[in-house]
Amino acid sequence: MTPVSYSPSLAVVADVVRRALVRWPAERCRIERGAALLAQGAVTPASPTSYAVRSATAAGVFYAVTIDGCTCHDARRLGPGAACKHRWACDLLSIAVERQRRLDVAELERRARSRVTADAVALAYARAVGFGGFR
Ligand SMILES: [Zn+2]
Repeated sequence: MTPVSYSPSLAVVADVVRRALVRWPAERCRIERGAALLAQGAVTPASPTSYAVRSATAAGVFYAVTIDGCTCHDARRLGPGAACKHRWACDLLSIAVERQRRLDVAELERRARSRVTADAVALAYARAVGFGGFR
């Protein structure tokens, strides 16, 4: 979990949430609440290793979420290794950011490949018609 300023698309976030619900069906409630926090813009990178998550119920209250957990009451109650909705919100965002980054890289590579292909076709055509002295 690394906070970043990169912004994933809504479609990517929705896909990440869908996959999480399939993979961790027992966590449905917290995953959905975490997704709601994300949708409300309640998650903000706070440092290179933490997020600040605005409380869904208490005005002006923020929880600190790190790789070690969350400062909320639910996280303390759940104990180490379990994830509260704030942690889910951060994990979902973190995964969505990484997926978006990979999709963007793949798209750039695809565009570069298709540009090369278009250049190759143009050059082959120029050669075929004997244009411009190409060999
Ligand atoms: Zn929490």
